[in-house]
Amino acid sequence: MNRETLSLPMVALRGLSILPEMVRHFDVSRPKSIQAIEEAMLGDQKIFLTAQKDVETESPGVTDVYQTGCVAAIRQVVKLPKKMLRVLISGESRACINVMEFEEPYMRANITVIPDTDTSIEDTGAEKNPMNLDAMIRGMKDIFKEYLLKDPKLSKELAVQIENINELKKLVDVIAANMPFSYTDAQQLLEEPDLMRRYELLAYKLVSEIQILNVKEELQKKVKERVDKNQREYILREEMKLIREELGDDNTLSDAEEFQQEADALKAPKEVKEKLGKEIKRFKNSMNSPAEVGVIRTYIETMLEMPWDKVCRDHKDIAYAKKVLDEDHYGLEKVKERVLEFLAVRALTKKGDSPILCLVGPPGTGKTSIAKSLARALKKPYVRISLGGVRDEAEIRGHRKTYVGAMPGRIASALKQAGVKNPLMLLDEIDKVSNDYKGDTFSALLEVLDSEQNSKFRDHYLEVPMDLSEVLFVTTANTLQTIPRPLLDRMEVIEVSSYTENEKMHIAIEHLIPKQLERHGLAPDQLTISRNALWKMARNYTKEAGVRQLERKIGDICRKAAREILETKKKAVHVTERNLHLYLGKELYIYQMANKADEIGIVRGLAWTSVGGDTLQIEVNVMPGEGEILLTGQLGDVMKESARTGISYIRSVSREHKIEENFFKEHDVHIHIPEGAVPKDGPSAGITMATAMMSAITGRKVRADVAMTGEITLRGRVLPIGGLKEKLLAAKNAGIRTVIVPQENEPDVEEISSEITRGLEIIPVSHMDAVLKIALAE
Ligand code: ADP
Repeated sequence: MNRETLSLPMVALRGLSILPEMVRHFDVSRPKSIQAIEEAMLGDQKIFLTAQKDVETESPGVTDVYQTGCVAAIRQVVKLPKKMLRVLISGESRACINVMEFEEPYMRANITVIPDTDTSIEDTGAEKNPMNLDAMIRGMKDIFKEYLLKDPKLSKELAVQIENINELKKLVDVIAANMPFSYTDAQQLLEEPDLMRRYELLAYKLVSEIQILNVKEELQKKVKERVDKNQREYILREEMKLIREELGDDNTLSDAEEFQQEADALKAPKEVKEKLGKEIKRFKNSMNSPAEVGVIRTYIETMLEMPWDKVCRDHKDIAYAKKVLDEDHYGLEKVKERVLEFLAVRALTKKGDSPILCLVGPPGTGKTSIAKSLARALKKPYVRISLGGVRDEAEIRGHRKTYVGAMPGRIASALKQAGVKNPLMLLDEIDKVSNDYKGDTFSALLEVLDSEQNSKFRDHYLEVPMDLSEVLFVTTANTLQTIPRPLLDRMEVIEVSSYTENEKMHIAIEHLIPKQLERHGLAPDQLTISRNALWKMARNYTKEAGVRQLERKIGDICRKAAREILETKKKAVHVTERNLHLYLGKELYIYQMANKADEIGIVRGLAWTSVGGDTLQIEVNVMPGEGEILLTGQLGDVMKESARTGISYIRSVSREHKIEENFFKEHDVHIHIPEGAVPKDGPSAGITMATAMMSAITGRKVRADVAMTGEITLRGRVLPIGGLKEKLLAAKNAGIRTVIVPQENEPDVEEISSEITRGLEIIPVSHMDAVLKIALAE
């Protein structure tokens, strides 16, 4: 093939390779290049253009430029400021440098034009299959179209132009010339004179370009999505903030932060902290549901207020404790002693090992108040839980959070109120707890009081274990009978018994009156209550083992006195036995005094009730009938059984007492116990009923000044009874002189203070014979 050799002015281009079919303009500023352009313009306007290998080279030599370049026709030259030229050229044919000439003021190159070849034809020597050609053209057009879709910068006209090309070489060159390839890519295409290989190279470059664009597009999409999401969230948050502000509820976010800070500062076990963290997260996430937010907020606040690891130090000074107990209470020597012993043991043993104190006794005898003093002595916070009437386990353990209005149980609430994990917790009236269908209250209490279990007590509401092992539990009860055995086994029982009238006087004068005066804002000299008035109050205005009612009555007097002082401008009020009724009204109780004369079938028994001792009169009547036994009045089941036992005993000894053989067949026996204010039941009226029956049956009178108490057996033995102190007290108050008690109770009698026993003839008996001998008058 004939290769044309030319000598043309030459320009080395920086960052640009010109391809045949390419129409481009570029700016030239180097004087050598400007000269070359001008030279070309003077001739046939052809110029040889080749790219510099390195854009930085200022005066390129032979080796600094690509050997293959392009012959181009200059279409237009525009002068720019600073002696620069803008040149519009169109690429025409490939050419390679033979010699570069530098002697002119511009570069000139001796070049050889490289004609296109087609290896596919050369290799086979055959004509190109037109079908193949067509397929190649279409293939290239398709690729280009695909590219066009991705790159909107290419012009529509170009698309149309390319669509109309039907010659393969032209198609390849036009596409190559118009693609925004880098100059190195363009150079590669320029250096490939073979059409087939150029076709492949172009196709390859196009496809990879498409792929790059695809990846770019995908990346852009992702970036956009992310930006969109952030944007969206930002906008939504801003809107929510606005809505909250409108509703006046813009604290939730800051609350959550505050909760978190508090939770971080909270001294608590890990489990609690984790639970709190979770709930705070839930709190943040449920801001759109006010109901839920409320529930979670209450929960978090409760959790934060619990004294998880907060403790107070025990004050272990026994002398100080004694001083406090003495200061707060009159008498109660035994109780105080037991409490002090308890404290001493506690100080010596490890925590959690000390037993639970249970103070048992009638109401108003100072059980609660001893517990309070104990707390004061130990300098511990004191909390009281009243268990009277608690039937539902949930009251102890709390309701699960799923309940509407769920709350922690009483134990957890009390601990929260105490503010430390080791307060003195008083479980008041533990004997009044009962079980119902809703769950086992006792087993919940057992868990609370059991040192083996209570370090991990679970409240249903809080859901995390609470440590109760350091709590000092004190319980109170009126009676031990209703406390289940397992619970009782965990407690150390201390009995607090009724007060005598003398003790009541002391307590009133030394404690109750000063307390009430202070509570009502009265100075000690503004109100005085005489001793006799107090006596009368204890006797005729109250009927109790303790001093609660008495304290209330003193309170009543204080109120009236305060009013009187203000209204009448009196300096002081003096309450005496005589004017007492002006303050307290009519007497409420009149003691059933001993009968004046001996009577048949009437015997005075002694009873022990929850409010202390009392006397009760038993009446028996015998009338013609068919051997029936009638029982009426205030009788419990145990009493009824005692009555029957009594009659069996009498029948068994009827001969000795000269009772006719047919007597029980022809007579009915009617036993009646008049209604009293307080219900009584128990076996201790056994001998009383038997004596009354014997008296009624035999017609012998009963001594009016005798009272008795004791259980009876079928064979007439007399068995011991409880509550002797209260019973003797009641007997004394009723003016009784002789009291018959079971022999086995004799040791108890010795323990009772002489204040009670003085003036009483106490006769211990072991058999009914002896009772009858003493009680029945001749
Ligand atoms: P309980 O718990 O046994 O039912 P409280 O402890 O409530 O009785 O006592 C009732 C009131 O009587 C309280 O104000 C208490 O201080 C007072 N009190 C009871 N016993 C005494 C006592 N021995 N000395 C001083 N005050 C007493």
